[in-house]
Amino acid sequence: MNLVLLGPPGAGKGTQAQRLAESDGLVQLSTGDMLRAAVASDSEIGRIAKPIIEAGRLVPDDVMVAMIDRRIDEPDCANGFILDGFPRTLAQAEALDDVLRRKSRRLDAVIEMAVDDGVLVERISGRFSCANCGAGYHRQFRPTAEEGVCDRCGSTEFKQRPDDNEETVKTRLAAYHAQTEPLLPYYRDRGVLKTVNGMAAIDEVTAQIDTALGTLGG
Ligand code: AMP
Repeated sequence: MNLVLLGPPGAGKGTQAQRLAESDGLVQLSTGDMLRAAVASDSEIGRIAKPIIEAGRLVPDDVMVAMIDRRIDEPDCANGFILDGFPRTLAQAEALDDVLRRKSRRLDAVIEMAVDDGVLVERISGRFSCANCGAGYHRQFRPTAEEGVCDRCGSTEFKQRPDDNEETVKTRLAAYHAQTEPLLPYYRDRGVLKTVNGMAAIDEVTAQIDTALGTLGG
């Protein structure tokens, strides 16, 4: 099964993608994570992307499409993948269609996680992750079981994304509305769009996604 998770920053795409990866054996392909890894390793793509990410704008389409085109060919994607953060523009969506057609693959569903803008800034500013294993948390909605200790690996070092600040979040939200929202009618017209309520509790969102995917093909 090949899926896209679509939604504004802070909608919970990464959280749900991680859960789907664990439950359905799919690979999570987060373009944000790939770009942050490229920045950390100071690669050519990382040097292009760093100032763009810090400003909350979008990295050029050709860079993103080439990145996903290559990544989908890796053996771990053979059973299916969840695109988390890609496509983000109509040009990327059209290029993805071409890439998948060329590889004789297809998208089974695009899941929209619908969330009102009002709650996103609060959600994003509470996010943090384990500096060692990358497990994601939220001060209010998903704290660690033991204060200051990662549930998954026991590390006591945590980090926050530099672009998770109020000013950059506003630019990221504007980019979502202007450049990514047009993908909703694009995928609705193709009959693959499923919408879930991204404002529900995390387990409830997972249940809604399971229900939406359970209706596939049937
Ligand atoms: P994310 O972790 O998905 O919120 O992505 C963090 C940042 O990486 C975004 O604000 C963009 O600057 C960049 N980025 C991630 N995915 C894409 C994409 N598909 N197209 C353009 N820029 C992207």
